[in-house]
Amino acid sequence: MGFEVTSVLKQWRSLFALWVGRSVGRILRLIGRRGTSLPGFLATRLSPDLLFHLLSQLQTCIIVTGTNGKTTTNALLYSILSSSESPWITNKDGANLVQGLLAALLPHVTSGGKLQIQKAVLEVDEATLPRIVDHFHPTMIIVTNVVRDQLDRYGEVDHALAMLRRGISYPGIQLIVNADDPLAASLGIGRELTYFYGMDECPIDRQERNEVKDGAFCLLCGREIEYTRTIYGQFGHYACPSGDFIRPVPEYAGILEKGIPELTVVRRKSGVEAERFRVKAPVLGLYNYYNLLAAVTVAQILGVSPYKIENALTNYEAPLGRMQVYSGRTKRILALIKNPTGANSILRTIETDELVKIICFAINDGDADGRDVSWLWDIDIESFLDQANCTQYYCAGHRALDMALRLAYAGVERERIVVLDTLSDIVTVTDEGQAPVYILSTYTALYPLGIHLREATQ
Ligand SMILES: [Zn+2]
Repeated sequence: MGFEVTSVLKQWRSLFALWVGRSVGRILRLIGRRGTSLPGFLATRLSPDLLFHLLSQLQTCIIVTGTNGKTTTNALLYSILSSSESPWITNKDGANLVQGLLAALLPHVTSGGKLQIQKAVLEVDEATLPRIVDHFHPTMIIVTNVVRDQLDRYGEVDHALAMLRRGISYPGIQLIVNADDPLAASLGIGRELTYFYGMDECPIDRQERNEVKDGAFCLLCGREIEYTRTIYGQFGHYACPSGDFIRPVPEYAGILEKGIPELTVVRRKSGVEAERFRVKAPVLGLYNYYNLLAAVTVAQILGVSPYKIENALTNYEAPLGRMQVYSGRTKRILALIKNPTGANSILRTIETDELVKIICFAINDGDADGRDVSWLWDIDIESFLDQANCTQYYCAGHRALDMALRLAYAGVERERIVVLDTLSDIVTVTDEGQAPVYILSTYTALYPLGIHLREATQ
């Protein structure tokens, strides 16, 4: 009797939480707000089990996790999958904590608590993953990479690896993982139901660069990993000198050719080539080709044909801050930076633009950015300067001075560094220029910058 009363109460509580979440979401959308987290936050407070109750109704659930590239991989995958007949749910805006996941599901729930769509592709923060997977087992987990992120948020990469390892520990979950990242790959080596993807051929070899390599030491013997090819950051073709492990041969291998915005994908079966096809890349930058390869790999495993993948990707729209282009009087490109590896890969992409250019940094230190900005010192600005062809650097945000100091220390002449008072000044000072403007922004500066840039291009 007591048990029945508790379970009925629980059910009522879930339905009440559902009603509150849905109503708040609807009101927010009516007044033009995004509502990516608040409805979920309120509903979670009222009924902590609601998320798991809804997730358990999904027939197919794909989770995208890892340090960098989650939002883009998720958005690419969603644009491929949602072009099929049956609809998919996603959290496209990158709200990847419990409340963001719930906010993504709530609009698709009936007032009786039933999910109307049974397929979801969800970006999940790596610290949130174990919490979800302890209650609910997804169909597939994609791990994009494991690199050093905001240290004051999660601690070292070891901690991130431990959380991911727990997340993938349940049997029956398919794991799709980047073979070129020794840390991410270590999760899949020897594991059943695992598929690897990686770049077999890539026109860039960064052996000479001074970039941070987070996975540079073997997790088993502690010796430095040897690379026969470095692609960027810790990504490449590698082996432990003691023979503990070697880069797995990917089932889905990417081939890139210099100057051609296409990805060739080789599908292998038992190590032998089974199929080869090309996909036009709707994204900029080498790191985004990894995200594209991850999305194509998953789509192929789910049985989507190369023809359908290519067609679906023509409608792809980049999420906020993932190298979006704002074309007005001045061409401005907005990119999110949150750690040295991500920032380096964006600088490498900017280098490939041979035009004279302007670069702006918008650096905040809010909770979502990470309070500690010492990572700015690990960005490889020095080797960027030789290739940059940049006339002017602007710095804005709460930590504009830290960034200006970092640039000066790297050797940028003082007269070429300007510190701005507000984020909107970035738009004002670059409004009449001929040169393309690259804006590198931390998380909390991104949304206000997106608004200013949209206004300026209208
Ligand atoms: Zn070793």
